[in-house]
Amino acid sequence: MILNSPSPSFTQRSGLIRTPPYRQPHHTVSDAGLIGGGSIPRPGEVSLAHRGVLFLDELPEFSRKALETLRQPLEDGEVTISRARASLRYPARFQLIAAMNPCPCGHFGDPEKACTCSPLTRTRYTARLSGPLLDRIDLRVSVPRLTVEELTRAGTPESSAPVRARIQAARDTMLSRQGERNSLLIGQALRQHAPLAQGPASFMAAAARQLGLTGRGHDRVLRLARTVADLGGSPDIREVHLAEAVAFRPRAL
Ligand SMILES: [Zn+2]
Repeated sequence: MILNSPSPSFTQRSGLIRTPPYRQPHHTVSDAGLIGGGSIPRPGEVSLAHRGVLFLDELPEFSRKALETLRQPLEDGEVTISRARASLRYPARFQLIAAMNPCPCGHFGDPEKACTCSPLTRTRYTARLSGPLLDRIDLRVSVPRLTVEELTRAGTPESSAPVRARIQAARDTMLSRQGERNSLLIGQALRQHAPLAQGPASFMAAAARQLGLTGRGHDRVLRLARTVADLGGSPDIREVHLAEAVAFRPRAL
């Protein structure tokens, strides 16, 4: 094995990368392959996905250690690889998209097929994702099985062009307001650009109590509500925007 040969993704490209990267490592990837490291330190998938998308399918199947290490790049947009003589920092600001089954057999909650997993097996499966990792995932969406009628029902779904235009308009709004993405707002800048009037503030406080939100979770909901409001063309964050943001953070998986 030649440790210092560049990976195919480097050799195939030359010059600047002009499209956002998309990386989809298999769950058997080594911790160093995902996060970076190795005896001759190299960037991992999280850095190769910098300013692009990192898709992790079968999320609970990744090693627990690798999943926990994702917390740093998800928070700071970089990873630190510590070695005896030096410590290296690689950029790693990616959009994490992950998928998982509701249980190992895949049928928990399915009205048509019974789940064959024991409660203990199910608990162990979902427990592979720690609370602090889940806290950093803003949108958690359950996707139930489609019925045959739903699959065959004729309909005209909205085409991508108007969706793109809507998202572009929301991006333009936030960039003209604060010069950066809502997801990067922290501390004072978040309070300044996502202020809450009295009604929405009490709604948010009640939701935070009910959901047991951490300080981080609270700020993440606020950033998401800012985006929901931008998508709706509303300069103010209202209860309806907060409610939508909160609905993406169910208490249980
Ligand atoms: Zn099951």
